[in-house]
Amino acid sequence: MLFLRGISAYFVAFLVCGVVYEPCVLAWSKEGHAMTCKIAQDLLEPEAQHSVQMLLPDYVKGDLSALCVWPDQVRHWYRYRWTSPLHFIDTPDRACNFKYQRDCHDPKGVKDMCVAGAIRNFTDQLSHYHHGTSDRRYNMTEALLFLSHFMGDIHQPMHVGFTSDEGGNTVDLRWFRHKSNLHHVWDREIILTAAADYYGKDINLLQQDIQGNLTDGIWSSDLASWRECSGISSCVNKYAAESIDLACKWGYKDVESGDTLSDDYFNSRLPIVMKRIAQGGVRLAMVLNRVFGGHSLHEDSVVPI
Ligand SMILES: [Zn+2]
Repeated sequence: MLFLRGISAYFVAFLVCGVVYEPCVLAWSKEGHAMTCKIAQDLLEPEAQHSVQMLLPDYVKGDLSALCVWPDQVRHWYRYRWTSPLHFIDTPDRACNFKYQRDCHDPKGVKDMCVAGAIRNFTDQLSHYHHGTSDRRYNMTEALLFLSHFMGDIHQPMHVGFTSDEGGNTVDLRWFRHKSNLHHVWDREIILTAAADYYGKDINLLQQDIQGNLTDGIWSSDLASWRECSGISSCVNKYAAESIDLACKWGYKDVESGDTLSDDYFNSRLPIVMKRIAQGGVRLAMVLNRVFGGHSLHEDSVVPI
């Protein structure tokens, strides 16, 4: 499998300026992705921080989070249409588990074309950067942006959802008073309602709250276990398995098309959304620190199950 496509600073600038708008229907919202990437960047060691700075275009002034939503913005462009299946995993309805060999393929059955396969692939591409033997077949800036985005997506529980409802996208419902769907509730509605209700609509304050829980709050003793990773294949399998488990226990639970979701659903699911954003950020930092620090994430003996 070869994921190689060029990206020009012009195209990125074009998008960042908002000239082209693509609605994001299958991803953490831009807010979720930006928070994941900000959390990650704050946890980078000097070597990884330097490599990230070198790979980012100048106009983002070293801010990875400014481009973390880029893969959603280009996925419908002809040039990047091949990346569209890489944002999610469809698992068998109500199986509530993930098996790489069974589930990681695109709708036509092409192997490795799912978010777990994409993270493995782009991690592998970035591992060529460290030794100064950068493989010219790969665009390292693009690999960094895809990896950063997909580490967010794999932690959004409904990105590892059921096949027949497209990860909740076809489960139409109401979020408080307006129309939405179950996938979008997890991508964006919960985050925006939290920002409005508790943080004066300031996403930065929500993000700071998540980071506070990491440094000296409820998750500080969990950090070491979140970072545990003996090899990227087994780790992405674990992240995807966590997501479908949460999707079953919290996402789909007691929800049917036509329902109205409000306070009860919001209050019980918000802590999960915050934790998954935090985990995505911590684990993205772990992978970037390893690949740019020269520590391999390859497994020789682990075969994806
Ligand atoms: Zn996405």
